[in-house]
This record gives sequence, structure tokens and C-alpha cells, in this order.
Amino acid sequence: MLSGVGVSPGRAAGPVVVVAQPAGEPPAGPPPADPAAEASRIAAAAEHVAANLQARADSATGEAKQLLETTAMMAADPSLRSQAEQLVTTKQLPAPRAVYEAAAGFADALRSAGGYMAERVRDIEDVRDRVVADLLGIAPPGVPELTEPSVLVAQDLAPADTAGLDPKLVLALVTEEGGPTSHTAILARALGIPAVVAVRGVLAANPAQLIVDGQTGSVEIPSEPVTPFAAEVGAGVSWNGVGTTSDGLRIKILANVGSAKDAKAAADAGAEGIGLFRTEFCYLAATDEPSVEEQHAAYAAVLAPFHGKPIIVRTLDAGADKPLAFLNPAAEPNPALGVRGIRVSRERADVLERQLAAIVSAAEETGAQVSVMAPMIATVEEAAWFADRAHAAGVTRAGVMIEVPAAALVAEEIFSVVDFVSIGTNDLAQYTLAADRQLGAVANLNDPWQPALLRLIGMIGKAAEAAGKPAGVCGEAAADPNLAGVLVGLGISSLSMNPGAVRRVGAALAKHTEDYYRQVARAALVSHTTADAKATVHAMLS
Ligand code: PEP
Ligand code: MG
Repeated sequence: MLSGVGVSPGRAAGPVVVVAQPAGEPPAGPPPADPAAEASRIAAAAEHVAANLQARADSATGEAKQLLETTAMMAADPSLRSQAEQLVTTKQLPAPRAVYEAAAGFADALRSAGGYMAERVRDIEDVRDRVVADLLGIAPPGVPELTEPSVLVAQDLAPADTAGLDPKLVLALVTEEGGPTSHTAILARALGIPAVVAVRGVLAANPAQLIVDGQTGSVEIPSEPVTPFAAEVGAGVSWNGVGTTSDGLRIKILANVGSAKDAKAAADAGAEGIGLFRTEFCYLAATDEPSVEEQHAAYAAVLAPFHGKPIIVRTLDAGADKPLAFLNPAAEPNPALGVRGIRVSRERADVLERQLAAIVSAAEETGAQVSVMAPMIATVEEAAWFADRAHAAGVTRAGVMIEVPAAALVAEEIFSVVDFVSIGTNDLAQYTLAADRQLGAVANLNDPWQPALLRLIGMIGKAAEAAGKPAGVCGEAAADPNLAGVLVGLGISSLSMNPGAVRRVGAALAKHTEDYYRQVARAALVSHTTADAKATVHAMLS
């Protein structure tokens, strides 16, 4: 029995498929006994990789097909292959090392050519890692092609890997790393795939099958073979679709989305609108800035199911674990503390202007009630800068996210320059507790029940009530039915969550009065630990 942090509810069991990591830099020795024979292995490996990628391209569609075809062509390209062969014969290098060094030469040349060519560096590195893995006789890196419903086990997954997963074939996700609010976890919830992160030792245990509980975080290696299954969560919960407390205080129950598919799932789940549209999720794989027309089309597709309903579109939160190739080209030592969100927008105001134009025109076309907000605001000045630009672009309601402790501390002043705020509890927890949301080892600190976090939210709730302007929560905290009651008691007026949680939270909220939620919130605020806060609130609400 292993355990981790359950981040996407649901129970499932099935055969394990491991997502391999790249092999890293191969050693430069020992020299091959027969350099000619060693060199001849390279062409075979490259052809094998090219054929595999082409076969996957043949059964893929759209952007994935194009990407796979480009990578297959690079693998089949004779110049990389012949340079590597020469390195084996002239420098006496083992074949994997020769491929690694030849690819480095190509990558440098592409990088210095800049522009579109520089954007191909990632592709050449992918080809390199695949050919090296083939030569070493190990599994190629990345999510393998699944042939049957399976439990995926990985060190961690990139958001782009997770976004491409097929929920029909992925029964559950288990990772060694990752925190409860890492974007892998968020995407797993959006896809409705049960997931447990921070499961120490799962790779070393090398299980053939796993039974996974995404609620409790338990991961069991069965002693007898089990029949694969996936159990749906919250199927029996009913809710009338209008968020209120039992005495009629209106609390909108909204959904977090990142694509047109999510928006449809949100509408089907009965969400009253969208509280967070993560626009950067549309462009995780884009190499160039999408045109205003392309952005208009992508945004209109998300807004379409919510005609006449409230939608909050967030401008690009590029950076940290969601780098966008066209906005974050340089590596940073601490990307979560680097040029991210609004900081990128201030450097590239032209990109922001084009995005605002696309959002405004998509809103006009679809008739959704669109508000726009900016991520990663730390100061009043940043909030005012953004609100001015958004209003000038024709946005009626301009707001900001509060997800940096500094912004929570000056919430009152921020309210004087914006129309609303939305609290991102995922980042607010990460920055308040100084705990990387992607790191398994600190997953327990990244808990929205931390009394310190609740006190910051309480300050923002008070500032909202004083300003007579709304404060919502769009972090994952809003998806916990008990915590939702606490948030309402702290003065929060809308809750936005993954579509799968909408019904559960809506139904739970209708059970008690506003006044009672205020008492519950006071009890949570004076708790000393997350365990105390959870136990006290659970006892009061159940
Ligand atoms: C948050 O930080 O809570 C949030 C909603 O934004 P994201 O998860 O996209 O960083
Ligand atoms: Mg955030």
C-alpha cells in the first residue's frame, strides 16, 4: 500500500504504463570496439524512431498530427544521422553519445538562427532523446501510445502531456512528484481522470497493476490480478442549478475551463457561468503568437455555450509551469518568482492589446457577459495599469486575480481601481507557505485549509464588503464542499471550480444559512492546524 495526495476524485484500477523520463546525457565512453559497426546502428535507430512517429501521426488529427509528422521528418533527416556516424568513427564515441553531440550542434545552429528556427530546438531535442533511447534499448520518453485502458505512472507530467491524454484510455494518473494544485492535477480534474500525486516510491515499486483512489490518495498494489474499472464520482448528487445558501444568499457556482471541450462539460454539469477561463491553456503547444482572428475563434468557441451568462476570461498567465514558447523564451532560475502573468504583459503590452481585442470581439459575437482579469498581480499600480488598458480596449468589467500575498495585504486599495477580484488559492497557498506547488515533498504545506491562507482570504472578503465589490475564489479550494462553506462565511460571493465539482458544491452550499457559514468560518480561522480546521468544519457541517 502506497499513499500520496489525492488531487482528482474517483476510483480506478488497471494495468500500469510507465511514462519514461529522457535518459539524460549519455557517457562519452568507453570507445567502441568496432567503430564501423557502432556507427551503422545509428541509421537503424533513427529509421525506427521515424517510422514509429509516422505511424502515430497517421492515426492522429489536427495539431498533434502536424507535430508528429514534423518530428518524424526530423528523425528521418540524413544530416543528423551522418554527423553522428562521423563522430563515432573520428572521435571514437559510443553511438548514443555521438547522437547527443550531433544534435547539440544542430540545436545551437537553430538557436542562433533565431525566430521560427529557434522554435524547432525542442523538436530536435525530442528526436535526440528518442534515438538515444532506441540505441540504449530503453523506452522512449513521454506518454507512450496506449493500446488498452491503463493507469499512467510518471515522475511528473508536463501540462502539455496531460492535456493530450485520452480519458477513455487513461483510467488514473499516479505521479511521484507534483502538488495538489500543480497544473497536472488541474488538468486531470478537468479531464475527470482520478489522480494521486506525490506518491513516493511508486516508480521503484514497479507495479504491474494499481488500484487508485483519487479522493483519499491511497494507491494499492493488488496481490491478485484485478479487473480494470473506473468509478464515476458524484453521479447521484442532485442540485437545482442556482447557487444559494439555505436562506437565499446568492453565491454563483461557476466553472474553471481551458478549452471549448471543458466549456461544454461545464455547461453540461450545470455551471452558472465561467469563473476562470485559463486562456494560456489554448496555446501551450503554440510556437508563435496566435493572430487576433485565431484567438477570436478559440475564445468564441469557449464562450458559445454560455450565451447571456457571466464569464471571466483571464489574460495569458504565461510562465512558471505554463511557459508559452512565444512569450517565455529564456530560462529562469526560479520561474514561479520570475517574469510571469501580468509581468509578461507589462513587457509585451502589444500582445496584451491583441488579446484584449480578440476577447472583446468574441464577447460581442457570442453575447456572453464577459469580464476580463489579469493574473499574478502584486501591487495596486499593476492592477490600475491593467484595468485602464482593459477598459480602454472596450472591456466593461476589469478585475484582477489575488494570488500573491502582497496583493491580499493591499486588497482595499486594489478594490479602488478594479471592478472585482478573484482569489487564486493555488498560487496564494504556494506563495504564502513558500511551497512549490509542483513539488511532491511539500504537497502537505500546499493545503488551502492552512489557517494563514484562510486569514488572508478573510482580509480580502472584508475589503470586498467594504468596497461593495465582489470577490470570488477560482482556485481549487472552491471545489471542496466544506471549504466552500468557509469561503462564503469569509465574504466570498462566487465560487469557481472544475466542472466535475459543480453539482457537489452547489448541493452542499444549500444546506446551511449565511450566518451559520460565518460561524463556521470563524471556527476555521482560529484553528491552529489544517487538521483542526478540517475536523472542526466537518463536525459543524455534517
Ligand atoms: C490559482 O493560482 O489559484 C489559479 C486559479 O490560477 P492557476 O491555477 O492557473 O495558476
Ligand atoms: Mg495562479
